[in-house]
Amino acid sequence: MAAAYDYDLFVLGAGSGGVRAARLAAQSGARVAIAEADRVGGTCVIRGCIPKKFMVYASAFAAEFASARGYGWTLGETRFDWDAFREARDREVARLSGLYVANLNNAGVDILQARAELLGPHEVALPSKGLTLTADKILIATGGAPWRPDLPGIEHALVSDEIFDLPRLPRRLTVVGGGYIAVEFAGVFNGLGVETTLVHRGANILRGFDEDLRAHLAEEMERRGVKIVLGQEPVSLEKQGETIRTRLSGGRVEEAEVVLFATGRRPATANLGLERAGVRLAPSGAVEVDAASRTTVDSIFAIGDVTDRLNLTPVAIREAHAFVDTAYHGKPTAFDHANVPCAVFSQPPVGTVGLTEAEARHRGGAVDIYRSAFRPMKGTLYGGAERALLKLVVDRESQKVLGAHMVGPDAPEIIQMAAIAVKMGATKAQWDEACAVHPTTAEEFVTLRTPAPDPAADALS
Ligand code: NDP
Repeated sequence: MAAAYDYDLFVLGAGSGGVRAARLAAQSGARVAIAEADRVGGTCVIRGCIPKKFMVYASAFAAEFASARGYGWTLGETRFDWDAFREARDREVARLSGLYVANLNNAGVDILQARAELLGPHEVALPSKGLTLTADKILIATGGAPWRPDLPGIEHALVSDEIFDLPRLPRRLTVVGGGYIAVEFAGVFNGLGVETTLVHRGANILRGFDEDLRAHLAEEMERRGVKIVLGQEPVSLEKQGETIRTRLSGGRVEEAEVVLFATGRRPATANLGLERAGVRLAPSGAVEVDAASRTTVDSIFAIGDVTDRLNLTPVAIREAHAFVDTAYHGKPTAFDHANVPCAVFSQPPVGTVGLTEAEARHRGGAVDIYRSAFRPMKGTLYGGAERALLKLVVDRESQKVLGAHMVGPDAPEIIQMAAIAVKMGATKAQWDEACAVHPTTAEEFVTLRTPAPDPAADALS
């Protein structure tokens, strides 16, 4: 049957999810094509996780230099060269993009450097190439794109896609938003010596994260020099010479040379011919899919940020694996979106997995909270005031650890391991059976013995 089509699988979008699905399907014997209008690699490789993490590394040296003196080092003049850094970063990004291309080629995938759109359940057009192709199955993996509100003067602001290519570092930066991207870039630019103000409309940054974690991170970011303005949102921007003046709802005006809007991302579904092909979209613009990533059209599937389920690279990759297992290995598989760990590469960084305290309490049933906030050992020799936070959320009846949350050095690395135990449904006693590694910050996760006082029980007494 499949030979009736030009391809067995046609993938739209060569980001993390699309590339993985195309490669695995081709390795299973399917005839696969992938269309990409931009560079192969998608948001993660080209303008997201990878270049961002290099920027986090670059910006963290300043704090290291400052602390080195406490350890007996004498440092000469230190100076950051933005151009040299950008060149090194972009070289590595280009290498990674090249690797993706090589892997696709090796698997026998046809890479079509063009934008594609759907014509029907089995048909795609590549207008710039004047091509129409058919496929047994179509996979939409076009990701998302930064979104910013339509305000007077918004054209003066940048979004995250553009922040990587600043010609020079500004003296001052205003970041709008309190999510992952805002918090991460505020830390990056503050570390690079840019006077940084984060403006967020909510009561605290990182809505949806554990409340203790949010409060702790905000305090630590401020300690490191980021100015955080809460409860206000921009109403207009105006440019005077090199200065952009961002007027806030409370009347305050923030001045900076660069303004970054990190106000969320939207699924990239516009002008893809989805409605024409019969694919239903949610009001958010996301492609509606079932647990097997199938859209409302039997032959069309969608994975990754375009479905707006959990917008993380490893999730898109796992959805790709599940799709290929289902479609090409006769093994119906649905990726389980529960207990997916995640990190925010703020400074200090965040790692989290499972339920927040509020989510656990909302489910009903009593919970035990174990919490420890302390000064990590490294700070003691240089008088560092930074504090780490580790927290466990435990179901009182079953004693299962429902959530683990951390702010502090290496939190993303540590939470990756904690996620195994949370995913397995390990109990607090089983966590405690693991012997501590000493002296580490992470050992607190297996040495926390006394639950915090329970506010609900206190209220009853
Ligand atoms: P988020 O959805 O995380 O945050 C958006 C922020 O913008 C929120 O604080 C939101 O406020 C605020 N906001 C939304 N609309 C407005 C508005 N009109 N005016 C003022 N503020 C507004 O989006 P990001 O852009 O930070 O990141 C997008 C996604 O990318 C993340 O959800 C995540 O999935 C992914 N990502 C993951 C990373 C990682 O894994 N480390 C790193 C970067 C991105 P409110 O909270 O009040 O809604």
